[in-house]
Amino acid sequence: MTALGNVKLKPGDTIGILGGGQLGRMLAMAAARLGLKCQVFSPDPDSPAFDVVLNATCAEYADVEALELFANDVDVITYEFENVPAATAMVLAARRPVLPAQKILETTQDRLIEKNFVKRLGIDTADFADVSSVETLQSAIARIALPAVIKTRRFGYDGKGQAIVREGDDPSRIWEELGTKSAILEAFVPFEREISVIAARSADGHVECYDVTENEHRDHILKFSRVPAAISDELAGQARAVAERIAHALDYVGVLAVELFVVAGNGGPRVLVNEIAPRVHNSGHWTLDGASISQFEQHIRAIAGWPLGKPVRHGQVTMTNLIGDDILDYEQWLTVPGATVHLYGKGAPRPGRKMGHVTEVTPANSK
Ligand code: AMP
Repeated sequence: MTALGNVKLKPGDTIGILGGGQLGRMLAMAAARLGLKCQVFSPDPDSPAFDVVLNATCAEYADVEALELFANDVDVITYEFENVPAATAMVLAARRPVLPAQKILETTQDRLIEKNFVKRLGIDTADFADVSSVETLQSAIARIALPAVIKTRRFGYDGKGQAIVREGDDPSRIWEELGTKSAILEAFVPFEREISVIAARSADGHVECYDVTENEHRDHILKFSRVPAAISDELAGQARAVAERIAHALDYVGVLAVELFVVAGNGGPRVLVNEIAPRVHNSGHWTLDGASISQFEQHIRAIAGWPLGKPVRHGQVTMTNLIGDDILDYEQWLTVPGATVHLYGKGAPRPGRKMGHVTEVTPANSK
């Protein structure tokens, strides 16, 4: 058992994971390789992470009794999604260390708080404004100019809870369709490319960043990640420095992802932070096969109080997400030379549902 202070797990100890999706599943698989056990908590009986652990708790996040029993069974608690309800995190944090810390959820669950936090660090973002009514939307449009992107402050992912606002659109209709009381309006960024940095930070403040990943979305959902990103070493260094600053400022323990836009600037391309994900991230899946240590293992090491590894990339890597019906081609993918196929064991493919991914590595020394 672990006291609420510094965590130092031993092989055989148990990690509690909130959330039973593919991220939880891959975290549990990485933990198993290091001789650690995991117990997964999820309200969904069909959670893919349940398939790879011996002990699972299937209960609602508001079920205090189930949370308490779960906490008693584990040594440290982590999560695979950022929308962990504050009350859930509070119940758990009173009993076991929760890493990354509960206060980080408060910053990253709300786009306005997150953007203000990034801005206070002196890191650039798209211009943004708080919107809480049609009137504030109108004044935000006047200040930021169109086109712009309106996003709900909370619970947005994969393009959900956001819309582009164009010249001639009716602000009242946009506001009604968004169906929220709190949103932000962001300047539309004419980006050259989208990139992300996966960074791990240990409790003693050591940070390890992976090489910068370039991401291509289809219908707002990540489709391809390619590493290294086609950017200069200098810009890649700037992107990694941004992620490192954010990790330190949050006093973060674990893996986080920082999504950035690369935009043209007078002095050459520069980066703007789009979003912080306080968890392992889809754009880091390439590390499972393309690096000596995966993002999942780094996260487990960090929350276990173990030393982070120095990840070495094995070459040029492409990660392809299998979304919805893409999964029906899995047998074809299994025959592609050099491809590593990951299937998440989910049920029926639905449009937009992430069903698996494939990694292809071109070794650095191959001709
Ligand atoms: P988000 O949920 O904020 O990560 O946004 C999902 C995707 O929408 C991003 O990866 C971009 O492709 C696009 N997007 C989000 N915000 C903007 C913006 N301000 N300007 C242009 N594209 C955006």
